[in-house]
Amino acid sequence: NRAPQTVTVTGAAGNIGYALLFRIAAGQMLGEDTPVRLRLLEVPAALKAAEGTAMELADCAFGLLDSVDVTDDPAQAFDGTHHALLVGARPRTAGMERGDLLQANGGIFGPQGRAINEHADDAVRVVVVGNPANTNALIAQQHAPDVPASRFTALTRLDHNRAVALLAAKAGVTVEDVDGVTIWGNHSATQFPDLTHARVRVDSEWKPALEVVDSAWTDDEFIPRVAQRGAEIISVRGASSAASAASATIDHMRDWALGTGAGADGSARRTSAAIVSDGSYGVPEGLISSFPATSDGGEWKIVPDLAPDEAALPGAGERLAATVAELESERDAVKELGLV
Ligand code: NDP
Repeated sequence: NRAPQTVTVTGAAGNIGYALLFRIAAGQMLGEDTPVRLRLLEVPAALKAAEGTAMELADCAFGLLDSVDVTDDPAQAFDGTHHALLVGARPRTAGMERGDLLQANGGIFGPQGRAINEHADDAVRVVVVGNPANTNALIAQQHAPDVPASRFTALTRLDHNRAVALLAAKAGVTVEDVDGVTIWGNHSATQFPDLTHARVRVDSEWKPALEVVDSAWTDDEFIPRVAQRGAEIISVRGASSAASAASATIDHMRDWALGTGAGADGSARRTSAAIVSDGSYGVPEGLISSFPATSDGGEWKIVPDLAPDEAALPGAGERLAATVAELESERDAVKELGLV
């Protein structure tokens, strides 16, 4: 067995937390040879529920589960942590203005960023799931000046997985026969699920996705359906997409920590992750934006030479520009509010 890894989950008593913790304890995030120490952070009102989840975790008798601690103190929750999964956030409620939402989340993610700065392991990896995820990640990162900015990320893997599944279903193939989908930008309705460099394997032959599905379907159905999938799940299931969000969170952390590996044809398998921009693709440096990404088990790396192909999908460049503009306006708003 490898050395135990500490994993902190915030909002641990929530729906996503409930779908996440058992899979982490079962070794599905860090591998079946890595013991885990779980830290559950909650607000005081939800501590009791988190204790209940901790009792259930004990009752699973997971061989890899070293310990479970429940706390409402970020300093304790992040002490020595290697993996910080920031799930708890202030949801948008009816009538709430964007400024109020950002302000409320600034009050959560600022202090959590500071606690990570002061207490986490030097090689901490942070993923923000709580919405608005990209900007919450930026707030946390700005409060952690001693942690490399690249250690703060936000989740767009659920959007990525939704896009892969939808394309596979339309093409009549399995998800293993789909490759090279990219989610660009913000985890919001403006996100751009881009098929212009994607490929689909039909009858053992890889073909450009936009030769298998047409650009009208992409524009009229695929892009809006991926972007609105969360609302679609709520309307059908009557509850939000907690299990798939948890599954995507595990995919994101596993790929980051253990590497994205090779794809179906032996080339580097790439995915989508919201990571700090180095200025690539015209995304202003410092924004936490979704890119095509690979990991060798160290850092996420932005894959070059995949700019949305205007010839394959007219308007592709504008879609990227629009979602990046939204991220810039969120960043400007949190700056104005003094949150970063
Ligand atoms: P969930 O566990 O369902 O969701 C948590 C966050 O994840 C929300 O911000 C939600 O955004 C976001 N999210 C991202 N992707 C998805 C998706 N596909 N489906 C659903 N949500 C998604 O929320 P609960 O209300 O069940 O639980 C939240 C918990 O967090 C509560 O127990 C609360 O006490 C806790 N909390 C803890 C804090 C802390 O630890 N300091 C701070 C704040 C809250 P959206 O709202 O847009 O759906």
